[in-house]
Amino acid sequence: MGGVDLEAIRGSVREFAERRLRGVARVIDESNGVPEDVLRDVASMGYFSLRVPVEYGGPGLSVLESVVAIEELSRVSSAVGVMATVSGSMVPYPIARYGSRELKERYLGMLAKGSIGAFALTEPCCGSDAAAIMTRAELDGDEFIVSGVKTYITNAPYADFFVTAVRTGRPEDRHKGISLLVIDRKPCVKVSKLEMMGYRGSGTSEVVFEDCRVPRENLIGEVNAGFKKVMMTLNEGRITTSATALGIMQAAFEEAFNYATQRTSMGVPIIEHQLVQYLVSEMAVLLETARLILYEAARRADEGHPDYVRYSSMAKLYVASRGVDLVRMAMQVMGGVGYSRESLVERLYRDIKMVEIGDGTNEIQRMVIVRSLLGRIRPD
Ligand SMILES: Cc1cc2nc3c(=O)[nH]c(=O)nc-3n(C[C@H](O)[C@H](O)[C@H](O)COP(=O)(O)OP(=O)(O)OC[C@H]3O[C@@H](n4cnc5c(N)ncnc54)[C@H](O)[C@@H]3O)c2cc1C
Repeated sequence: MGGVDLEAIRGSVREFAERRLRGVARVIDESNGVPEDVLRDVASMGYFSLRVPVEYGGPGLSVLESVVAIEELSRVSSAVGVMATVSGSMVPYPIARYGSRELKERYLGMLAKGSIGAFALTEPCCGSDAAAIMTRAELDGDEFIVSGVKTYITNAPYADFFVTAVRTGRPEDRHKGISLLVIDRKPCVKVSKLEMMGYRGSGTSEVVFEDCRVPRENLIGEVNAGFKKVMMTLNEGRITTSATALGIMQAAFEEAFNYATQRTSMGVPIIEHQLVQYLVSEMAVLLETARLILYEAARRADEGHPDYVRYSSMAKLYVASRGVDLVRMAMQVMGGVGYSRESLVERLYRDIKMVEIGDGTNEIQRMVIVRSLLGRIRPD
């Protein structure tokens, strides 16, 4: 993609976010929910189906273009940004890449028409240790019967369907006994919203499957061959999740910079004080380096570059950890105002911490980086 196209996407998403999300972002955080009419408008713009190919009616954005769109949504509402990450990238990825023609037509078509998807991997027993998941799917004739508990699932209260990792093999088979199923929302799927510190409104929930009957055709790929598909989904998801952090970094920088030019102390705007200049210059460098490494990871993913998995983890580790640093500095520049519930930076500080945890913690990214350097990771 050329720079002009990227800037056109940035401009149109920024215009939408300023017009439609700026006024409700605080309400989304405080009420821990996105109003129905806002959801509808975001969906109608195609932001919940970013990566759905054009042939299925979606916007067909590249990874890099999706990053720019998610960055701009997150600059105003990181809750909506992370919802777009999951429904627009992590949900369509395994269906588009590994699903049957029928699955693609049905579920990618639904996303393109405004449905919302969730990606359900984590369980109370295990997040980093994804090969240990316990949600069972037993074949009974032409249907799987699914029972188990997923937790911290983004989008769950709004989702029309769940791309779900299930155990179809024996627990001791670990990653060799896992499959990926698409499960429609129905009464056997019980969703309970959780009270989280940040990304409030994105619907982080516990999801219980109580003997849900799922047609065999809803299997993505082969039985017991789901784990690699989950890992591949996370490789792209780490890039699009990091885009939410980049949007938060941009917002925190703008807020602190403007404040530093207006607030005075000892007779001058605080930006004239050298120690404030240290913080502001450090934030500017972090913001630009985060953007560079993230865009580079996205470009490599789009090109199918052999080392894009390492770049994806390096970008996520860098953007998450340095993003937390940047928002802490922004709060420092703003003094007591920054620490107040009235300030935007207070929400950004709560939100950005999640990126060091979700989609693989910082520690897991370090593990992936070293495994990749040792030649032990081969994307399919
Ligand atoms: C807001 C939010 C939204 C989320 N959305 C989703 C979602 O949509 N779908 C979904 O499936 N999940 C989701 N998650 C879950 C998230 O992916 C997990 O929380 C994350 O993978 C960590 O798993 P855990 O919480 O079980 O921590 P654990 O795996 O128990 O880790 C605890 C600590 O131990 C460390 N650790 C664990 N294993 C190792 C190791 N081998 N080497 C070094 N250190 C290790 C971790 O780094 C961490 O510091 C979400 C989480 C949050 C907070």
